[in-house]
Amino acid sequence: MNKHIARKRFGQNFLIDAQVIADIVAAVAPQCGDCVVEIGPGLGALTDPLLKRLDRLHVVEIDRDIIVRLRQRYSPDKLIIHEGDALVFDFSALADSSGGGLHIVGNLPYNISTPLLFHLAACADCVADMHFMLQKEVVERMVAEPGTSDFGRLSVMLQYRFIMDCLIDVPPESFAPAPKVDSAFVRLIPRPPEELSARDEAQFAALVSAAFAQRRKMLRNNLKGILGDSGFEELGIAPTARAEELSVADYIRMANALVVQ
Ligand code: SAM
Repeated sequence: MNKHIARKRFGQNFLIDAQVIADIVAAVAPQCGDCVVEIGPGLGALTDPLLKRLDRLHVVEIDRDIIVRLRQRYSPDKLIIHEGDALVFDFSALADSSGGGLHIVGNLPYNISTPLLFHLAACADCVADMHFMLQKEVVERMVAEPGTSDFGRLSVMLQYRFIMDCLIDVPPESFAPAPKVDSAFVRLIPRPPEELSARDEAQFAALVSAAFAQRRKMLRNNLKGILGDSGFEELGIAPTARAEELSVADYIRMANALVVQ
């Protein structure tokens, strides 16, 4: 078969570093009966070692040329191929059929990583764990502490739902073609339902979006029409603070105060 030419529009940077691949598989630690889904299998750098340890593996892939290769290489009862866009894929449907929590894995296409993380966060209740290779700068934003310039909407929304650990730093040379940025491999474990204390999660998400709409503005301005000075005072939050100065717990308190108003 002809050599595959990496497609930039699909964020194709294929893993070629055997040590990084081994470290990733060790971190994922797949057990043979697990329901594992790989996003973007590409040329199989992770698919191969995962399949060695699993009865079967689900993959979601958008590139038709790659799908042809996957069909030729793996038997359909070992590799279940879902052809399409991971951004709209219904991961919860796989969890229903498996009866257990999903293990989602991927060296993600960096051009869609933020919307993909939000899409995956929405189905966190059917997930056991997720392990992703991402642009390092995105991982830094995911795990950022309040009061830092990396702390933003992505940090609040993902930290609300997941416990996250940056596990491995990965240099550009570990991929072909090499991306222009550093990468990092991260683990996300969903928090148990009793820890998710926002009473109305849609309202919580809307509040966080509004608070960070213009980062440099004071909360009083970004939340005009949503929370007045007396509301801030009751919560003990300075209306002159910037969005990045508040903790995830502060955002939950603010959202819950709006729900009861
Ligand atoms: N897993 C392989 C590896 O590590 O070498 C490939 C990783 S490459 C960074 C990203 C993969 O995601 C490619 O196979 C690409 O075709 C696929 N992809 C890109 N956009 C996608 C999307 N929206 N839905 C599903 N797969 C996508």
